[in-house]
Amino acid sequence: MLIIGSHVSYGKEGILTSVKEAIEYRANTFMFYTGAPTNTARKDINVETVLEAQQLMKDNNIDINNVICHAPYIVNLANKKDIDKWQFSIEFIKKELIRCDMLGINKMVLHPGNAVGISKEEGLNNILEALNIVLEDSSKCSILLETMAGKGTECCSTIEELSFLINGSKCQGRIGVCLDTCHLNDAGYNMRCFDQYLDEFTKSINLNKVKCIHLNDSKNPLGSHKDRHANLGKGTIGFDTLLGIAYNKRLENIPKILETPYIGQNDDSKERLYPPYKYEIEMLRNKEYNENYFDLIRKENNI
Ligand SMILES: [Zn+2]
Repeated sequence: MLIIGSHVSYGKEGILTSVKEAIEYRANTFMFYTGAPTNTARKDINVETVLEAQQLMKDNNIDINNVICHAPYIVNLANKKDIDKWQFSIEFIKKELIRCDMLGINKMVLHPGNAVGISKEEGLNNILEALNIVLEDSSKCSILLETMAGKGTECCSTIEELSFLINGSKCQGRIGVCLDTCHLNDAGYNMRCFDQYLDEFTKSINLNKVKCIHLNDSKNPLGSHKDRHANLGKGTIGFDTLLGIAYNKRLENIPKILETPYIGQNDDSKERLYPPYKYEIEMLRNKEYNENYFDLIRKENNI
């Protein structure tokens, strides 16, 4: 069975808000940030709400083992020129893992980091050092390193870089990979040849390290190093290719998460107000593309 969901908000009721939103999209998994992805301010976790959320997941066939947390993307493990900032990032991720334990979540996606002003090699060494410090803790939650587009000085846009971190980790039981189709495309890996990519991947990394897939189309061409997500079928990867990845037998039981953009009142609209996930999930389940799905979303919202 396809395990499919989307990014959802972590609202007033924390993870309970996330579950309710996922159910609206008829998803059987979801991904959330434990607060704003762009800052590190975090609210305390309400235990009662967590229990309610976990019950609601059970009632709606959402296996909590497939639910993903995403670390905020402002923490940076790659650069330790500002040692206080680097240590803050380490401490923050440790706290984030404790929050995952409290929520019952066992997978957290992390953008490995940006070298900024130092070589990628040095950046990767810093990330590995930081990860080994982080994973000395006693949390049960794994860290999934996300494949990146290679925008600017982003680390982990190649299999080699990923392999250096994964195979170098001292805590093999808690380190894994999140493949992002938009990022892979932008990094130069052709998603039309996804099996070839997996073949290359398995030469240096065990395929069982892949624990999550971010299923996104891309606004930019292959190898552009841009990282701008597009809605399914509205980008350069295309619906059929993404559908093939969603149902690829080698990654069958891996949760697939949509991080596609909200849509606006019209195609040129700057305001992005309406989540596309219910429709994108439905198309993936039906294995059929509806080229008018933006119109259906706008109709549903009376615009
Ligand atoms: Zn992603």
